[in-house]
Amino acid sequence: MSAMPCAREHDVMTLVLSGRWPESADASLVTHAETCATCAEVVAIASMLRVEKDQLNQLSIPAAGQVWWRSALRARADAARAAERPMIWLQAVTGAGAVGAVLAGLTMLWPRLAGTVHLVLTSNGASMQEVLPLLLIAGIGIVAAPIAFYLAVPKD
Ligand SMILES: [Zn+2]
Repeated sequence: MSAMPCAREHDVMTLVLSGRWPESADASLVTHAETCATCAEVVAIASMLRVEKDQLNQLSIPAAGQVWWRSALRARADAARAAERPMIWLQAVTGAGAVGAVLAGLTMLWPRLAGTVHLVLTSNGASMQEVLPLLLIAGIGIVAAPIAFYLAVPKD
């Protein structure tokens, strides 16, 4: 179950799934499958299916074989996903950190921003030069937060 992913596993699996293993397989691929733990596992599952097919009535086997393969493939996909999980967490933590930093910055700026906005409202736009950079910083923060979040959250 702890076999490493192999670049040729897909080729082996394709041939095995289409019932052309090892007849249609490249000689080097057959040799590889004998020495590679991952590919040997794929072939082993296939031979088990073949034994089943011989022992049991053909009628019940296609469905049973499919279930077998599906669970084997699902186990492999789960293992791959489990390996990806720390990476997703790292991205999520990085994204949350970026959003948090932006929010903290906005919170720190807010009293001054609110004061300036109040000043602008009461003095009728007299200090536009002072409020503009602050609005710009707030605007960048508001735009950057979703982008940081988008980049941090995995797309699938
Ligand atoms: Zn292999």
